[in-house]
Amino acid sequence: MARTKNNHSGPHKYMRVELKSRIKGSYGEPYIVFRCMIPGCSHYVARELVVGNESECWRCGDAFQMTTALTYLKKPHCVSCTKGKPKSGPSVEDVSANLDKLLGGI
Ligand SMILES: [Zn+2]
Ligand SMILES: [Zn+2]
Repeated sequence: MARTKNNHSGPHKYMRVELKSRIKGSYGEPYIVFRCMIPGCSHYVARELVVGNESECWRCGDAFQMTTALTYLKKPHCVSCTKGKPKSGPSVEDVSANLDKLLGGI
């Protein structure tokens, strides 16, 4: 089980949040953390440390383990949702294809 007590049952529900760097004269890279979005829970963890933690899927609500690839997503979801039951919303693949189009069109 987790080392710290959760304010809720089940795993945290992580969302990617960019914190503005407080250091003046730095490269201006935002500090990325994953925050639990469950009401009443103030848990957050640095991006490097979230890998391997359990999170709740934004799509199906199941628990899954965070991987490095998922730290690029704002609202991480589990593997079965990544593979995509064609429900609603574009898949990761669609989004990156659209990005390619956008970038190629400049
Ligand atoms: Zn939480
Ligand atoms: Zn899922």
